[in-house]
Amino acid sequence: MHIRKILASLAVAAFSLELQPEALAWHDRTHLAIAEAAGFDLWYSAAAPDVAKSKAPFTPIESPNHYFNNNAGREVTAEMVRGQVDLYDRPDDIGEGHLYGAMIGSVRAYRTVRATGKYARYPLAYLAHYAGDLSMPLHNTGFDDFNRARHGINDGVIDAGVRDSVASIRKRMEVPVIGNEADFAREVARVAELARRLGMKMRRENRDMTAEEAYTQVTLSASLLKAVLAYAETPAAPAAENKP
Ligand SMILES: [Zn+2]
Repeated sequence: MHIRKILASLAVAAFSLELQPEALAWHDRTHLAIAEAAGFDLWYSAAAPDVAKSKAPFTPIESPNHYFNNNAGREVTAEMVRGQVDLYDRPDDIGEGHLYGAMIGSVRAYRTVRATGKYARYPLAYLAHYAGDLSMPLHNTGFDDFNRARHGINDGVIDAGVRDSVASIRKRMEVPVIGNEADFAREVARVAELARRLGMKMRRENRDMTAEEAYTQVTLSASLLKAVLAYAETPAAPAAENKP
């Protein structure tokens, strides 16, 4: 790589670090509880993407998969979700992050590896993590002063007791039906938009999430994850059917 290109990519990396220095979203136990409530067999790996992310801050392949800043405050739509899919794992096009595309990209990655006959389940551990990040209000709204100041406390708002609440999360879950990638994009948009609106409400009221609100959010994540895991096991549709 040409030296100027290297310097340019380092500058991009440093810039993105400045934007999102330690925005981890839900703390580890909350991620685990979401994945366990969804019935994911590798639930104990659902915090691993944050571990992976911590290792390589100057090659931000992973970090932008965890948030979408939505600085313009646009309503999240299925089109917006689909527009991010090709950005999954792309350190050269960070923009405002591409969490929504990472949801779909990780399922496509799972199916691609599965087709080779190799062990394929690690992309689903990423999916389980992204499904958790998706309901976190501060991962769906701009990384502004409010977000910086309150990220840590909101990440941990239910973390201490959440591992004892897996059964009650399960009872509250309403699992959507996902039969194809269009359904998938629509359901990702629905959860993201609910999270974005809660993030804006927290700003207006200048406050943190309540525990009840946090449980509502993680229940949305667990419900979506359960549906996506079932969808991921179905045969991949021909690429043409996944076009908008
Ligand atoms: Zn994350």
